Amino acid sequence: MEFNILTLCYLIGSVTFIIGLKMLSNPANARQGNLIAAGGMVIAILGTIFLYRDEAGNKLHNHGWIFGGIIIGSIVGTLAARKVKMTAMPEMVSMFNGMGGACAALISVVEFNHLVKEAALNSGTGVLYPPLSDLANNDSSLVMPAGQLLIILLGLIIGSVSFAGSMIAWGKLNGGIKDFSFKGQHIFNIVLLLVILGLAVFLVAETPSGSRIIFYIIFALSLLYGVFFVFPIGGADMPVVISLLNSFTGVAAACGGFLYDNKVMLTGGILVGAAGTLLTILMCKAMNRSLANVLIGSFGGDKTGAGSTKQQGAYKEISLSDAAVVMAYANKVIIVPGYGLAVAQAQHACHDLEKILNDKGVDVRYAIHPVAGRMPGHMNVLLAEADVSYEKLQEMEEANEEFPSTDVVLVLGANDVVNPAAKTDPASPIYGMPILDVEMAKLVIVNKRSMKPGYAGIENDLFFQKKTSMLFGDAKKVLQDLIGEIKNL
Ligand code: NDP
Repeated sequence: MEFNILTLCYLIGSVTFIIGLKMLSNPANARQGNLIAAGGMVIAILGTIFLYRDEAGNKLHNHGWIFGGIIIGSIVGTLAARKVKMTAMPEMVSMFNGMGGACAALISVVEFNHLVKEAALNSGTGVLYPPLSDLANNDSSLVMPAGQLLIILLGLIIGSVSFAGSMIAWGKLNGGIKDFSFKGQHIFNIVLLLVILGLAVFLVAETPSGSRIIFYIIFALSLLYGVFFVFPIGGADMPVVISLLNSFTGVAAACGGFLYDNKVMLTGGILVGAAGTLLTILMCKAMNRSLANVLIGSFGGDKTGAGSTKQQGAYKEISLSDAAVVMAYANKVIIVPGYGLAVAQAQHACHDLEKILNDKGVDVRYAIHPVAGRMPGHMNVLLAEADVSYEKLQEMEEANEEFPSTDVVLVLGANDVVNPAAKTDPASPIYGMPILDVEMAKLVIVNKRSMKPGYAGIENDLFFQKKTSMLFGDAKKVLQDLIGEIKNL
């Protein structure tokens, strides 16, 4: 009976996870979806802790350790999530993702040692753990089940790459770690990956328990690969890597599900792996990168932007009152939000501007670039927080069709996602990335604090074009002042 209830708990966990994931695709009910999925997972976890029995009928007994871990983890997670600034969210996602990868890798380490123990016992040698230094032990009687060993190794390799890679991504996003690459790094990465896979195949084919040392070498090399995989990647390519590492963690967790024959772990892992892979493909498309380049950690190339730092000439500024007039008397205004909107926390002021322009009969829309901000969906989350209607948001392709019939485009703290160098300058590190064609509108107003570059570290031709006028200042302050001016018209 208990087993049936446990199966029901797993079913609830799996179904709520799928429902939650589906609801996450719409900002209006994403928060609710998150809660539903989390609730289902709590049921599955409590079911496992209190109802699970192994083949011998034993229940889990180490409740002190389990609840100790859950309580400490919950406190740390809650404090981190409450304290984190919206702009630092991608770093936190990277860090949490890395923890998932580490868990999967540690499960593999624990289960490998169980397998060694079982193999030694079955062989009747009485040697439970052959010493690590026992390299010469090739006794073929100490055989481990190859299928189980394969899953353990997959979890170990993918989990370790995900953990080490996510930690480097975390350091790079918070500025603590700089891009690092050396000549021939691509070849080095490929060779390293081949060595890891070769050792894993050898271990599965040979399965002598004395090969513990090989297992730990695979562990160490996988961590190293994770580091070298992410190290050279920077600039405009980071979102793809974060999403890919996320899918790695899902696959590594699914390996754990296979190992323990745990349905909810398997479902959750596969869903995260599949969702992460789909997102990676979509991001690759949005950034015009091939997945093959991502996999060998070789894209991004020259991040100096040397081809794009040429002297651009003069730019012109627009006053607040002039900006207010052209927007208030326009028929159609499109707002292009970017990372600066998140920095300034100007989403509420932005919504207020939209409302006051609407009152004046202006049609206001938002053009959302898939990699605007610092994480997938960053702008959607920000604008949803300020209750901006989802119908007002236009995706890149749709917005690009609208720009030619738009009177004013207000670029709010965005830079790379509106940089025409992506279309015109083959030497630019963002060349090939689809962008928002704001220069097709009649007038472009760009709000930022200075002429400094954005994330990719390159100058932006748009700021120097005839149709463009700069409106300098912090986005929130500028929006509040603009609203004041429009009210007085
Ligand atoms: P950018 O980083 O290109 O530009 C943001 C601009 O905002 C800066 O030029 C900055 O200029 C301005 N800014 C900063 N603070 C303020 C403020 N308080 N008020 C007004 N302006 C401000 O952002 P985009 O959104 O255009 O592009 C995103 C970039 O980040 C892309 O290169 C993308 O590849 C990358 N990326 C995206 C991720 C994702 O998943 N979305 C993840 C990681 C990276 P100034 O300092 O002069 O004010």
